[in-house]
Amino acid sequence: MTTSIGCSARSPDNRRCKETKKPFNPCDHRPMLADKCVSGCALTGIYRKDKNRLHTLKGHAKKSKETFMDNPVRHYWEIRLQKLKKALESNNFDVYIADNKDLAKKIAYNTLIPEIAPRTISWGGSVTFVGTRLYEALKNDPRYTILDTYDKSLSPEQSMQRRRESMLVDLFITGTNAVTETGHLVNLDMIGNRVAALTFGPKQVLLFIGRNKIVADRQAAFDRVKNYAAPVNVMRLEKKTPCGKTGECENCSSPDRICNTWTVTEKCFPKHRIKIVLINEDIGF
Ligand code: SF4
Repeated sequence: MTTSIGCSARSPDNRRCKETKKPFNPCDHRPMLADKCVSGCALTGIYRKDKNRLHTLKGHAKKSKETFMDNPVRHYWEIRLQKLKKALESNNFDVYIADNKDLAKKIAYNTLIPEIAPRTISWGGSVTFVGTRLYEALKNDPRYTILDTYDKSLSPEQSMQRRRESMLVDLFITGTNAVTETGHLVNLDMIGNRVAALTFGPKQVLLFIGRNKIVADRQAAFDRVKNYAAPVNVMRLEKKTPCGKTGECENCSSPDRICNTWTVTEKCFPKHRIKIVLINEDIGF
């Protein structure tokens, strides 16, 4: 017998998700039935709608009262993430929602990257990306030519050259320092390769964004970056700047200053070039 989340109907054909082995929900989500579920079936499972698109199933969430009572924080962020998804999509970004970092990796590794079919892949400046463990998976995948800008065996000159080369890859992976509720990406970069790739160069860009990066507006984004993200990154990278001691920006002139180039990405151009996986967890800085 098949069961479904918050739905009295039964799957007529007993089809099950290949990943989770759970039955597909046959209720109002039936038009979305597909060959493969790339996420958890319960709640905000993400399903393939057609060949090129993924999307979350809102209906599951509404009908599973017990789960929401058990997980009010996750439910709260699910609502926030759905609103942000709409805002970002209205700015021409492609957006997917994952319940956690493991599912974010699955969405990217099993579905998005195979669909993009990149020959070359690189990345830059994202603790969130590393946190999903996609970094390890890609590094060891012979299907792709990897330009690893995190390679610690490189000399400073080689590392800089690799960053230059990464501007022309098929797929560049990174994160963002902040995202506004209106769907704008706000970033501050030391070297500039991360914001350069986000703006122009690589054919496609994939971003991982934890829920902790959401801010109300552009001013809140600037504050977050200067008085939280930058000092924490200074501490992580063991840079010698005053914010590493005070925890807030002192607008330094230190040689180690990591704050050099701001970008605000209001819309994705061309449409669909930047794909975003929003993660319903605190991850990254
Ligand atoms: S400008 Fe200097 S003090 Fe301010 S956040 Fe950046 S590195 Fe820290």
